[in-house]
Amino acid sequence: MYTYESSKAAFERAQKSIPGGVNSPVRAFKNVGGIPLFLEKAEGAYLYDIDGNKYVDFVGSWGPMILGHAHRPVIEAIQKKAEKSTSFGAPTELETEIAELIKSMVPNVDLIRMVNSGTEACMSAIRLARGYTGKNKFIKFDGCYHGHADMFLVNAGSGVATLNIQTVPGVTAGVTNDTLIAPYNDLEAVKKLVAEHKDEIAAIIVEPVAGNMGCVLPKVGFLDGLRAICDENKMLLIFDEVMTGFRQSKGGAQARLNIDADLMTFGKVIGAGLPVGAFAGKKEIMSHIAPLGNVYQAGTLSGNPLAMIAGFTLLSELNLHPEYYTELAEKAAYLKKGIIDVFAKHDEPVQVNQLGSMMSLFFNAAPVTDFATSAASDQAKFSKFFHGLLKRGVYLPASQYECWFLSNALTIADLDFTIKAMDESLSELSAN
Ligand SMILES: *Cc1c(COP(=O)(O)O)cnc(C)c1O
Repeated sequence: MYTYESSKAAFERAQKSIPGGVNSPVRAFKNVGGIPLFLEKAEGAYLYDIDGNKYVDFVGSWGPMILGHAHRPVIEAIQKKAEKSTSFGAPTELETEIAELIKSMVPNVDLIRMVNSGTEACMSAIRLARGYTGKNKFIKFDGCYHGHADMFLVNAGSGVATLNIQTVPGVTAGVTNDTLIAPYNDLEAVKKLVAEHKDEIAAIIVEPVAGNMGCVLPKVGFLDGLRAICDENKMLLIFDEVMTGFRQSKGGAQARLNIDADLMTFGKVIGAGLPVGAFAGKKEIMSHIAPLGNVYQAGTLSGNPLAMIAGFTLLSELNLHPEYYTELAEKAAYLKKGIIDVFAKHDEPVQVNQLGSMMSLFFNAAPVTDFATSAASDQAKFSKFFHGLLKRGVYLPASQYECWFLSNALTIADLDFTIKAMDESLSELSAN
């Protein structure tokens, strides 16, 4: 039987010094109830909390841990690098090496700028798109999250949706006036916005596989349609590949789905668990960034040597082992089938959305294709299910609005363990 006495005490203590006891809201378990677990260490596919409980991990630090936690080559590379100082604020050759590596892996990257988070990457990409096109407005999709910069905090999915925040205090109408919203997978809505704001829209930013309203897949033709609309209207197509980059394939969603974006943003896997983001694209656009151009963007710790060596080591390995992606997709498909079978056994309607190693399930009888259909899922049931799994040693994201990130450290035995825990949790659900 799992007990959480140490986590309870740690949470009490944390709340006295940290808002809500957490440094990012999705960690707070607010939607599912209970207290967040405080973690001690992780290895491969397993997490260990400070009470000594062990969990099979489906969060993977929200994406970076694609080959599992404490991956030896990454850890050793960081240790070695740290001996030579943790930061210079001056160029290093390693920054060029990781840039060259990414160019060799990802389509449409001529130039790439490193930043410290996905948030920074997305806000910089929008600034660049505006600076390059001379237009101010942009389109984002309901339920897509592009970090917490002011202009993105409209219908923002993820924690904003989980906490049910309708409008974010502190974000002025002046900033969000230029943010236009369309439902995901709805090309007609996009066309309407473009017609209504002719020659005012700089870009469309989209999660090519959405992961911040749960996992939602692009319908056939949706991304191609966005590409065509952008071409016809001199708008830039920005793929937010913070989740999908180096995860959907070594070339991200662009390569997997065979669609060219003008600008891409990265985060999560790119830093192997250290704070890294990046934005990239064609030379013609990227050369508007300072110091080449006047679109200003900067960072004291950008290209930090520990972050760069961690990312470089992980990306090098992904580059050399395309079979990892096949293995990940096979494991995800195995889990998906297990979920569908076990829910059928309990007569519980479920939707499982999955592409590659991104997936999530919804307590919902109807397909989930956008934010509205995601939000129509049964949140109360998910919360009970979440806790049923947690006490059986399976750690899922604490919200139906969050994607699960599989790691290749997961074994079939781990997945069978997870499916069995789901079976038991569903029995518990129907019993009360
Ligand atoms: C996580 C995420 C971000 C924000 O990245 P941070 O590193 O948390 O700032 C942006 N876009 C997408 C699609 C994300 O999933």
